[in-house]
Amino acid sequence: MQGIEGLSERFARIASRRASREELALCHTPEYIALAEREISSGYPELSTGDTVVSPGSWEAALLAVGGALNAVDAVMGGIHQNAFCVVRPPGHHATPDRGMGFCVFNNVAIAARHAQRKHGIRKVLVVDWDVHHGNGTQDTFYRDGSVFFFSTHQSPFYPGTGSEGETGEGAGKGTTLNCPFPPGAGRKEILTAFQEKLVPAADAFRPELVLISAGFDSRAGDPLGGFRLTDEDFSDLTRVVLEIAGRHANGRVVSVLEGGYSLAGIAKAAAAHVQALSDPCSQS
Ligand code: ZN
Repeated sequence: MQGIEGLSERFARIASRRASREELALCHTPEYIALAEREISSGYPELSTGDTVVSPGSWEAALLAVGGALNAVDAVMGGIHQNAFCVVRPPGHHATPDRGMGFCVFNNVAIAARHAQRKHGIRKVLVVDWDVHHGNGTQDTFYRDGSVFFFSTHQSPFYPGTGSEGETGEGAGKGTTLNCPFPPGAGRKEILTAFQEKLVPAADAFRPELVLISAGFDSRAGDPLGGFRLTDEDFSDLTRVVLEIAGRHANGRVVSVLEGGYSLAGIAKAAAAHVQALSDPCSQS
């Protein structure tokens, strides 16, 4: 593997933009969007809906985080790039339709999935979430949907308390939520095996037309919040599993979006391994 030095110069940049209110409303209620804007602009130290610290710049940052993911979807769906990694904050996967929580204001990945369906006319999207926390907001958004498959490996018991194996979707969404909770200390053996033995067959049955990754790196060894032990090489291998799924079903289309990760040095190394795997043609079928 090459080092991080100079890595960013080897990739094309996709500009971000502010997401529109209509785009936020693809997954969030108008009441929650108004509440978030009002509280952030009023100088609240955190959202009243949950543990999400905000500052006056958070509204702009949240709009740019969503807009960056949407521009990446447009670039990948438009065939300009095969895949993309969105280096955005705040993260999104804990944000439910009517509640920001867990450091998340808007659900970047969920909005990206809906945007792909609405703007680009695809039907089925797979979301793969390897953040150490369960992506409760993404699960909630699509729990009764059926067109977006949500797969998550996460630490349990842990924040936010959801994500048991018994949560599998309801109604039209029955069978399109797949949770793989693991105790603290889990690593390559548990998580890569879950990808190979649970995610792959489920994705092959679902046949997604686009794959999104909720790429949290708080599941990396040494993260100050998470208790998993994934290495940078493990993130490369998880990325390759996702690329193979996308290669079989989605013309290789993958958009990965940063979620959690609380060691800056750790995020940098894991993200470098992740984007190198994304950019390696040998790892794509
Ligand atoms: Zn997390």
